Amino acid sequence: MSLDPTSLNNFLLFGVAWGGAFLAALWLSLVLWAYRDIRSRARDPLSRILAVLVVAVLFLPGIVIYLILRPARTLEEEYQRTLEEEALLQSIEESSLCPGCSRRIKDNWLICPHCQTKLKKSCHNCGKLMDLPWNLCPYCATPVPGMRRENLTLDEALRPIPAEETEEEVEEELQTE
Ligand SMILES: [Zn+2]
Ligand SMILES: [Zn+2]
Repeated sequence: MSLDPTSLNNFLLFGVAWGGAFLAALWLSLVLWAYRDIRSRARDPLSRILAVLVVAVLFLPGIVIYLILRPARTLEEEYQRTLEEEALLQSIEESSLCPGCSRRIKDNWLICPHCQTKLKKSCHNCGKLMDLPWNLCPYCATPVPGMRRENLTLDEALRPIPAEETEEEVEEELQTE
């Protein structure tokens, strides 16, 4: 079997054409990838153009250079990180301090474990925690016992409390009948 020079030539030509097409497709996809990648990592147009140019001109070495130099975090990750940092900062700022000893206390503590300062009281009806100055439970609207209720209408204020009806009054009622 002898190799015909024309068919060998055709074979080589085919190989070169195929290789060329593959390289062109690879080049195009790398440029596209670099464009998408830099778009998610940098906001300014100059770095975007530079990144695409480096990959387009230098091809494979360009990709290596781009991978080394590209911003470590995407814009999305950067945004998440700032959010987390802000939340952390806020939680540190918001965590309250004991009015007695200025140590850090938790919001659901009734009493400061360090200096025994009373921090909260619990509602006698629903048991939820209330700030000390509150006269009314914000969860079940029960007034704190012994506290004067504000904003009472005259009718409400004059309405007799059934449980506190004294024996004398009961006797009087019986006598009138
Ligand atoms: Zn304290
Ligand atoms: Zn309550």
